[in-house]
Amino acid sequence: MKIICVGRNYREHAAELNNPVPAKPIIFMKPDTSLLRNNKDFYYPEFTQNLHYECEIVVRIGREGKYLQEEFVTSYIDGVALGIDFTARDIQDECKAKSLPWTLAKGFNDAAPVSEFIAPEELPPLDKLRFSCAINGEPRQVGHSADMIFPVNTLIAFITRYITVKKGDLIFTGTPAGVGAVHVNDRITGELEGHALLDFSIR
Ligand code: ZN
Repeated sequence: MKIICVGRNYREHAAELNNPVPAKPIIFMKPDTSLLRNNKDFYYPEFTQNLHYECEIVVRIGREGKYLQEEFVTSYIDGVALGIDFTARDIQDECKAKSLPWTLAKGFNDAAPVSEFIAPEELPPLDKLRFSCAINGEPRQVGHSADMIFPVNTLIAFITRYITVKKGDLIFTGTPAGVGAVHVNDRITGELEGHALLDFSIR
C-alpha cells in the first residue's frame, strides 16, 4: 500500500504559505508506516517545534490502474475518507530553502491519520464534497472539493501516467486554507458531508 499526496491544490492555501499556484500537480508520497487509523492518539514527534495539521479528502483506490482517463477515474475509487497530512513545517521550510525533498517533513511515523471510509455512492460526487476540521472544537478549515485546482479525476489521471495505483492505495487530495500548528493535548475533529469522521488527540 502506498500513500500519494498532492501539495498546493487549493489557491488560498498556496497563498497562505506564499507559494505560487502550480501549473502541474505537485506530488509527494508518505510511506505506509505513516498511516494512523481508528482515531488513535497521535504522539507529538520530538524532532519538530512546528507541527501543522492539513485536513484533506482522501480517496482509496479499488483496483489496479495506469494511464487512467479522467472520465474513468471514478470507477477506480472505492472509498472516501478524511485525513490529516501532518507536516513538520519547520523541517519542510528548511527542505524548501535547500530545494530538498519533503520526505522527513511529511513521511514520519503516523503522519497520515485517516478516518473510516465511506462508499462513494453514499456521498455527493467527488467534485461536490464539503468538509471541515476543528481544533478543540474551534473551526479552522472549511473546504469544498469544487475549489481544487486539480480535481480528483484530473489528479489521478495525472498520477497514473507515472505511477501505477493498486487496490488499497490512498490519495491525499490537498488542503484548503486555514492550516496551523497543533500542540500536545489538542483534539482534532473533522467532518465530511455531515459525517463526523475524525476525532483524535495529540499526546
Ligand atoms: Zn497536504
